[in-house]
Amino acid sequence: MKSRFKLGQFAGIGVYAHWSLVVAFAGVFLWMLWQSRSVTMAIDALVLTIALFSCVVLHEFGHALTARRFGIPTLHITMYPIGGIALLARMPHAPRQELLIAIAGPAVNLAIAALLFVLVLLRGHTLAFGLIVIDAAGEVAMLSTLMSLNMLLFAFNLVPAFPMDGGRVLRAALATRWSYANATRVASYVGQAIAVLFAVAAVFPNPVMPGFNPVLLFVALFIFSAAREEAAFVLRAQQPSV
Ligand SMILES: [Zn+2]
Repeated sequence: MKSRFKLGQFAGIGVYAHWSLVVAFAGVFLWMLWQSRSVTMAIDALVLTIALFSCVVLHEFGHALTARRFGIPTLHITMYPIGGIALLARMPHAPRQELLIAIAGPAVNLAIAALLFVLVLLRGHTLAFGLIVIDAAGEVAMLSTLMSLNMLLFAFNLVPAFPMDGGRVLRAALATRWSYANATRVASYVGQAIAVLFAVAAVFPNPVMPGFNPVLLFVALFIFSAAREEAAFVLRAQQPSV
């Protein structure tokens, strides 16, 4: 596969990056350079982006190593500008296994955030939350920013909508009581409803989001189609082959 290149290997699992990730990293550097006219700020932004993607790689290893405990190998982990995927050799059969595999990823981000929280306190830095935390010297506070971003990754991934991990957690929780097909159907509807809410929040002014938000609208459309796809895929697989 030429569209991706190998970053390394850990625990026998190859980690790859899609070429577009390099373009995205270069874009972050150039955009920051253009915005701040400061090479230091641009380098900070690049370091922060790479650190964030490293946290996403660890998130994927959370899924992969939990899957391994249930005898499911991971074919590879590939990183894209919108996130990473751990491609499992097969889907887990038991809902409990799917639930634990799905929740392991966000749990890693929560653990990283907790670790960074302790580091911020130990170093005597001021504790702050934000997409980019600026310290008293006017520079990016790396640890606080990375801690905040990991908390955001944790929360966003637990939104109960496919393709986020929360969608799988919801489906697995429902499947402990219902059939897999019915659990998927309901989880898909919940995901679509959340996508509609996101779209409404993105388009119509509200207290949380005063202006039009194209990124959230894109995310909403993405979630909506992914929720429908997941249901269609599972329900098709349930059809007896003829
Ligand atoms: Zn995940």
